[in-house]
Amino acid sequence: ASKPQPVVAANWKCNGTVAALTELLAVFNDAKVDHDVQCVVAPAFVHFGLVQAQLKNTKFAISAQNCIAKSGAFTGEVSIALLKDLGLKWVILGHSERRQYYGETNDVVASKVHACVGAGLIVIACIGETLKEREDGRTAAVVIGQLAAIAKTIRVNDWEQVVVAYEPVWAIGTGKVATPEQAQEVHHIIRQWMASNVGAEVASKLRILYGGSVTAANADTLYRCADINGFLVGGASLKPEFTKIIAATK
Ligand code: PEP
Repeated sequence: ASKPQPVVAANWKCNGTVAALTELLAVFNDAKVDHDVQCVVAPAFVHFGLVQAQLKNTKFAISAQNCIAKSGAFTGEVSIALLKDLGLKWVILGHSERRQYYGETNDVVASKVHACVGAGLIVIACIGETLKEREDGRTAAVVIGQLAAIAKTIRVNDWEQVVVAYEPVWAIGTGKVATPEQAQEVHHIIRQWMASNVGAEVASKLRILYGGSVTAANADTLYRCADINGFLVGGASLKPEFTKIIAATK
C-alpha cells in the first residue's frame, strides 16, 4: 500500500529572533518542494505576524504549539478562536514539554484535541514514553494510553483532522534519535491499535510522524520505515537543513 501524504512540521518552541527567523523563512521560501507533502511551521505566538507576512511557500501551513479551548479571562493564554481569527488551521497539542512542565495530563490533552477538531482545526497530537517507561517495558502501554485518551473524545470522522506524532521523550532534544527499528515498532503498534479500535481505513490514512532528534542525516532512513509518514522536528527546524528533512519524504 502506498503511504499517505507526508507531513513535516517545524516546532520552533520558545526560540528565534526576528532577524534569524527572517533569514530562515527566506530559505524555506526558496526551497524547491516538488512532491506532495504538507509542510508546517509552528512559531511562538509572538512570531505569527512575522511568519504570516514572510512565509510565501504554498507548501507550508502555520501552526500553533498549543492553545486553550475558550476565549476570555485567561491571562497569558491563546484560544482556538484567536487562532482561527488569524486564519490558522493547525495546532500541536500534548507536546511532551507541555505534559512535563505545564501539567497537561492525558485528559487535558484529550479535551484540547476534542475542542480543536470540533472547531475545524487540524491537530498534531503528540504521544511518547519517557526513558524510565521504556526501560520498565511500558512503552506500548504508555503510548496506547495517551492515544486511547484522545480516541475516546473524538468521532471516527474526526481522525481526518488528526496527525499523530510519536515522540519518545528520551529522544527529544538529546541527539539520541530512535533507531528506525525502535521507531517503526511503535508506529506499527499505533497503527494496529487504530485499526482494531477505530477502523481499518482511518488507520491506513493516519499520518504518524516521528519526532526526536531528527536531522538531515537520519531522516532518509527513518522515512523508509513503512509506518513513518513524516516528522515533527525541533532543533533542526531552526536551521536551513529543515528543507533537507522535507526532501527526505519524497
Ligand atoms: C520536538 O520537540 O518536537 C522535537 C522533536 O525536538 P528535537 O527535534 O529537537 O529533538
